Amino acid sequence: MSSGFCRLQRCVSLISSVRQARCVHQTAQSTSRLRYSTVPNASQQYEDGYNAPQLPADFLSPDEQMMKDSVARLAAEKIQPYVADMDRDSHMAPEVIQTLFDNGLMGVEIPSDYGGANSSFFVSNIVIEELAKVDPAVSVFCDVQNTLINMLFVKLGSEEQKEKYLPRLASNMVGSFCLSEAESGSDAFALRTSAVQDGDNYIINGTKIWITNAEHAGVFLVMANAKPADGYKGITCFIVDKDMEGVSVGRKEDKLGIRASSTCSVTFDNVRVPSSNILGEFGKGYKYAIEMLNGGRIGIAAQMLGLAQGCYNHAVAYTRDRKQFGQRICDFQGMQHQIAHVATQIQLGRVMMCNAARRHTMGLPVVKEAAMIKYFASEVATLTTSKSIEWMGGVGFTKDYPVEKYFRDCKVGTIYEGTSNIQLNTIAKCLEQEENSAN
Ligand SMILES: Cc1cc2nc3c(=O)[nH]c(=O)nc-3n(C[C@H](O)[C@H](O)[C@H](O)COP(=O)(O)OP(=O)(O)OC[C@H]3O[C@@H](n4cnc5c(N)ncnc54)[C@H](O)[C@@H]3O)c2cc1C
Repeated sequence: MSSGFCRLQRCVSLISSVRQARCVHQTAQSTSRLRYSTVPNASQQYEDGYNAPQLPADFLSPDEQMMKDSVARLAAEKIQPYVADMDRDSHMAPEVIQTLFDNGLMGVEIPSDYGGANSSFFVSNIVIEELAKVDPAVSVFCDVQNTLINMLFVKLGSEEQKEKYLPRLASNMVGSFCLSEAESGSDAFALRTSAVQDGDNYIINGTKIWITNAEHAGVFLVMANAKPADGYKGITCFIVDKDMEGVSVGRKEDKLGIRASSTCSVTFDNVRVPSSNILGEFGKGYKYAIEMLNGGRIGIAAQMLGLAQGCYNHAVAYTRDRKQFGQRICDFQGMQHQIAHVATQIQLGRVMMCNAARRHTMGLPVVKEAAMIKYFASEVATLTTSKSIEWMGGVGFTKDYPVEKYFRDCKVGTIYEGTSNIQLNTIAKCLEQEENSAN
């Protein structure tokens, strides 16, 4: 089978449904023109002659909008039916994983030469957000692959590494990002996993904990210290295949939320890895982790905002139905104000998330923006899910409705990829740097 044909197959039904939708869009040009003509002129000339794009931060291009609609449809049809069982059983259904791969959602930014969908970081976030509306656990499964694993390979991989891993990551291989350890969580670079050189190999020893997708992973990107004398500057990123001798995945954590997403320890016991499996440069692992986690944090924000919107949709629909004192409960002003407040917070979060994702896509600095939106989106998700349960009264507190699951799922947003305190530390540092450079 030619590689072109395989690529075509892998680049999948969703991308082709986007193309079909584009045709529909073209046939409905007059309506679209009307719609998009409401957007201000795409650029504006400033007094100093500078020409700048002038679009709202959360504006989606027709292709982005179609991607969003297609993923929403796919999630409703192919993922929703599995959600409650996956949560109960703490298990990701193979059919769901297959759906993600079959539709190109596990390789959004992987270039088409390697079988990926060749799209942007911004679109990855749209995908993560739409999946989270239906199941935040499926969303994080897809998020880690796209924003951390694929990006590390795309940005840092040698041609040989890209050819070996990217087509698999786009089609059937899950990857895990292994940084955290028992003694090093927030203080991530105090990690103890070691990589000792032995000729042209490194011998890796250590245990990583909290590793997302480890149950299904075929490849692990492992941060290990290969020169402890240099402190964190000895941290190096190694590509470790699951089937290498000495790799073992521990039992799944029994979690409060995102239960379908596997979280396991992974132990490396004298794992012999060729030096050609170093990803990027020796001793730059800490730098890569920091850089990747900036993008990762925007992805988690997209997950939290999708979660908030999904939960809000269920709860508000209920308030439009439920009557007390002879009227719909959504018609009480006390309810209207709460609903309006939560909707405003979600919208604010979306604008911040879109702005951060656009900046990242354009290659602009995002350290502060990523920390701000990761922090804020998890607060919005916490508020929304808590209020949604209150708005639904007793039934919101039961498993008969999905809001209690969103309530459980959102808590992790304040923990992984840097806790809320760590985001606030980063924001404070950025603010001080800005002040210093302004003086
Ligand atoms: C479901 C899940 C999935 C995960 N997936 C991955 C993964 O795929 N790969 C991976 O490498 N890791 C993963 N993690 C680990 C995650 O990144 C860590 O849990 C997180 O960084 C916090 O570390 P910790 O749990 O050790 O908490 P700690 O660092 O012990 O923090 C405990 C508390 O102390 C506070 N604290 C710590 N230091 C400071 C400080 N300087 N200032 C103020 N407050 C502070 C924290 O904010 C927190 O409230 C995952 C975690 C979870 C729960």
